[in-house]
This record gives sequence, C-alpha cells and structure tokens, in this order.
Amino acid sequence: MLFEGKFTEDLNGFDNRITQLFGIRYPIIQAGMIWASGWKLASAVSNAGGLGLIGAGSMYPDTLREHIQKCKRATDKPFGVNLPLLYPEIDKHIAVILEEKVPIVFTSAGNPKLWTAKLKENGIKVVHVVSSAKFALKCQDAGVDAVVAEGFEAGGHNGREETTTLCLIPAVREAITIPLIAAGGIATGRGMLAMMVLGAEGVQMGSRFVCSDEASSHQAFKESVISANEGDTVLALKRLTPVRLIKNNFYKQVQEAEEKCANTEELQSILGRGRAKKGMFEGDMSEGELEIGQVSSILKEIKPAARIVEEIWKEFTETTQHSFRF
Ligand code: NDP
Ligand code: NDP
Repeated sequence: MLFEGKFTEDLNGFDNRITQLFGIRYPIIQAGMIWASGWKLASAVSNAGGLGLIGAGSMYPDTLREHIQKCKRATDKPFGVNLPLLYPEIDKHIAVILEEKVPIVFTSAGNPKLWTAKLKENGIKVVHVVSSAKFALKCQDAGVDAVVAEGFEAGGHNGREETTTLCLIPAVREAITIPLIAAGGIATGRGMLAMMVLGAEGVQMGSRFVCSDEASSHQAFKESVISANEGDTVLALKRLTPVRLIKNNFYKQVQEAEEKCANTEELQSILGRGRAKKGMFEGDMSEGELEIGQVSSILKEIKPAARIVEEIWKEFTETTQHSFRF
C-alpha cells in the first residue's frame, strides 16, 4: 500500500482519517489566506467536496461574523475558519467562532496550548499549523485533532528554519501519531500523491486557490501570480515575521534595508501598516506586500474553485489508479 486510506467504489471520494475528521469527500483543504479566502472561496471549495477555510487573519471580529454567516447560507457542507493567533484581542474572534458554532478551526502563528482546550470543549475540531517536527509534537501534546505541516515553499507566513516540505513531512510523520496534512508547494494531483506517499493524509493548498474566480484577492494580484516565474518569490523579513512574497518595489526597499543591517524599528517603519491589504486586496503591485508560494511559477490560469478541486482529484485518482494499479 502506497498510503493509508481507501477510494470509494466510484473513485469519487476517499475514506481516511482526514475525510472522517471533517466529514468531507476529498482530503483537499483550501488554506486560510489573508485577503483571499472570504466566504465565497470557502463555500465554493466546501461545495466541491474539499474543506474551505475562511481566513480570519485579515478580518475584524464583525467582518469574520459576516463571512461565517454568509458561508453558512452558501453551503450546507462543513467549512472552517483559519485563525492566526497574533492579534491582541483574539478572544473576540474566538467569541464569534463559538457564537456562530463554527465546526472546524485551524489555528496558526501562535501557541496551540492557548485555545485548543476551550475550542474542543465546545465541540470544535482543532488543527494547528507548524513548520517543524518539534512543534508538531507540541500540538499533539496540546490535544489538537490534526496538524498541518507547512514547508519552506509556502506563501505568506513561514518558518525560520527553511525546512522544505519534502524534508518536513517524513519528519513530522515520524514524530506524531495524529492525522497529518501537508502544505507548501502543492498545487496538482501529482503533488498531492507525493505528499500522501510521504505520510500525509491530506493536503492544504493556498496559492492554487488564490488563482480562482472566487478568491477575494484583487484581479491584478491574481494575474501577477499566474505570470510569476521560477525565482520570483523569496522568503523575506526573517528578522520580523518571515513571509514568502513576490519580489517587487516594496521587497526591494526591505532588501536594501536588510543589506544595511537595519534594526527592527527601521524595518517596521518601512513596512508601515496594511501593506498586505494594499497589495493583495487593493491591487498595488509595486508598493504592496504580495504573499504567495513558490508553486506560483507553475500556475497558469485563474479558474473556478470547483474546477480546481475536480482537476486535482482527477489527476490524483488517475495517477494512483493507472500507474500503481491499486
Ligand atoms: P460584499 O460585501 O460586496 O457582498 C457581496 C454581495 O453578495 C452582498 O450583497 C451579498 O448579499 C451577496 N451574496 C451573494 N450570494 C450570497 C450568499 N450565498 N450568501 C450571502 N450573501 C450573498 O462582499 P463580501 O460578502 O465578499 O464581503 C463582505 C465584507 O468583507 C466586505 O466589507 C468586504 O470588503 C470584506 N472582505 C474582507 C475580506 C478579508 O479578508 N478581510 C475578504 C473579502 C471581503 P447580502 O448583502 O444580502 O449579504
Ligand atoms: P498590519 O499590522 O500591517 O495591518 C493590519 C491589517 O489587517 C490592516 O490592513 C487591517 O485592516 C487588517 N485587520 C483586519 N482585522 C484586524 C484586527 N482584528 N486588528 C488589526 N488589524 C486588522 O498587518 P498585516 O497586514 O501584515 O497582517 C495582518 C495579519 O495577518 C497579521 O496578524 C499577520 O500576522 C497575519 N497573517 C496571516 C497570514 C495567513 O496566511 N493566515 C499570512 C500573513 C499574515 P484596516 O486597514 O482596514 O484597519
């Protein structure tokens, strides 16, 4: 057996710990992405048989509530919220999630010990995002239901150690016994198969879903992603919060400052406030922060989210069935 799990008889579904945990058809998860994954994208992915996540990292609590309510109206399938634990008043976001009875929460960028117990007491499935085997183990100890291990290739927030997904997944698989979701550098059915063979039970994709009709990102950003080439993204701002982004004029300013050994305050003043919104939501391709993964270099088309899910599942199934004769 190449990996754990079983295809349904019609091959249009899969049974493993991840599909069981979330109650979904395919072990395909759309990453929570600031300014890209509002209710439109999350509900479209969930309706297509994957798991859609609303990215709360760019939402004030009232906006988050609005998106959860709209998502509930747009799908009767399970969906979740990704909550980066960075804002000081994160308890307000948590209160909205509890009041709105969101069934699944992916926490990230923080300590899984802080909120896991509270969320689980309320019947919520909790997943935490990590970039090392060491932190995956901490998540397991904190009682999460599953872990997303995200490698160096990924867009947006990233680990400092630069461990690639290819090295990270086998290490995390070895370290933990709970379900494992791979992320970073995956955008195709074959990429998904590679991760499953390495021990993942599901995949999370961000960049692929930024280039969907339903993503709330600015059209200019989507177009810059599909025209990005190899080497066009870089892991920047390692001294503040490491993020993978597209090299543009904003990045050049950061790079020049870093070369001159600018201190944290100087870097923060270049960054200013709301750079990510300026780039990804408002479409300023020069001065905005454009967060995306390395895999952007193989993305060539903006399409409906349902077609993305369908094509990835088809390629995954065909490659598995035809090449390995399951
Ligand atoms: P809009 O506020 O432009 O709403 C779009 C329209 O779609 C609304 O009129 C809404 O109706 C309607 N609609 C269509 N289908 C449905 C459905 N199935 N269920 C509910 N409503 C539907 O955009 P969004 O809804 O995308 O965003 C809401 C707010 O969130 C905006 O202020 C937007 O700027 C912000 N936003 C923030 C993001 C972030 O990452 N922070 C990402 C995306 C948006 P009705 O008015 O009746 O609800
Ligand atoms: P900044 O501090 O530069 O700006 C904050 C931005 O977030 C503003 O545009 C603000 O909108 C908006 N915002 C939405 N909700 C809140 C809130 N509750 N409190 C404060 N601001 C809010 O931060 P960034 O834009 O660089 O990052 C935004 C957040 O997203 C950070 O917490 C960051 O760590 C996280 N993040 C998450 C990622 C993910 O993939 N999940 C990836 C990268 C970052 P307005 O201008 O309307 O006030």
